[in-house]
Amino acid sequence: MKEYHYKDFSIYSGNDVFDTLLQNLIEEGYSQVFVLTDENTEKYCLPILKKHLFNITHISTKSGESHKTLSTAEIIWQALLSKEADKHSVLINLGGGMVGDLGGFCASLYKRGIDYIQVPTSLLAMIDSAIGGKTAVDFGGIKNMIGTIQQPKSVYIYPEFLASLPHEETLNGYAEMMKHGLISDKDYWQKIQQVSPQEWPNLLGLINGSIKIKMNIVTKDPYEKNERKLLNFGHTIGHAIEAYSLRHDKKPLKHGESIAIGMICEAYLSKVVLDLSNKELRQITELISRTFPKYSLRNILSPELIKIMRQDKKNINDQIQFSLLKKIGKGQINHTCSDTQITASLNYYDAL
Ligand code: NAD
Repeated sequence: MKEYHYKDFSIYSGNDVFDTLLQNLIEEGYSQVFVLTDENTEKYCLPILKKHLFNITHISTKSGESHKTLSTAEIIWQALLSKEADKHSVLINLGGGMVGDLGGFCASLYKRGIDYIQVPTSLLAMIDSAIGGKTAVDFGGIKNMIGTIQQPKSVYIYPEFLASLPHEETLNGYAEMMKHGLISDKDYWQKIQQVSPQEWPNLLGLINGSIKIKMNIVTKDPYEKNERKLLNFGHTIGHAIEAYSLRHDKKPLKHGESIAIGMICEAYLSKVVLDLSNKELRQITELISRTFPKYSLRNILSPELIKIMRQDKKNINDQIQFSLLKKIGKGQINHTCSDTQITASLNYYDAL
């Protein structure tokens, strides 16, 4: 088992993490232990956790982003209240980023905050959403509109959970792994290139690398004033395409697919604005387009996408903010681009 200890919390990763989880729960002497799942993690992951823990109270929610809402949070608070959860209770979030964000949000506000523990079950949650203390629900049609930043007490990463994760969900995490290499670690990027995400066991060696990169960034800047913005690489355009596809497509793009397009477009913008070399732009474009399916932007008017980007909560003074690449492994924050440059980046992707 690998252990990472930070000021207020710890991360454990490996196939023997649950003995440590049990030991830590006993040491804390919690009054009650609650476990939040959705129906999939209840089916595939809860039975594994139950082999190691006892005396837990299970709370279930429906899976999917459409349930990451204030009304679901109310249901969870109601469940905690009806079981008389007090200030010294703990909530374990057993699930992907949706359960983790929602459960973290509920715990950080219930009785002005109780401890919560992240047990991520999707690749994206293991290497990204469970790490960094951001919690949220969606509101008014906007993702992560209402939220808090509160670190979990600890995070337990049990990679075997990936065995039941659908492949398209694995790809969502793989896109974020690529981003980690691109913004801050060229060696890690080289390693990713040698690994095919088709078989989840191939990815095990990369999980700890991604955790380290994200934690390095988050510990320096927990409240996203500076360096944490690096993690937005690919997401300014990616989120706009995701939102567009959600509104218009019968089968909307997955998050990873949208971010993959966003990373290609923003690598192009990096060439225009920061002189990213042609060789590195080609390398990035090649790996991403080999991994993710092509999506046609032909029928999408770029003003419509730019309008969506203008609503991004990360913008400053109505200027769309980009985190770009000086070179592979070296990201830079706080760049703006003209509408013409953004349109050119979309055309670059569409012409591939
Ligand atoms: P998700 O939680 O919706 O999980 C995707 C699907 O996989 C769900 O149907 C889920 O039930 C299922 N699933 C999860 N683990 C499984 C397993 N082991 N076996 C079988 N099925 C399993 O989606 P996600 O991609 O994990 O997370 C996306 C969410 O994370 C979004 O809400 C996003 O906003 C959030 N997010 C948060 C942060 C942060 O810093 N807090 C960062 C990135 C993303």
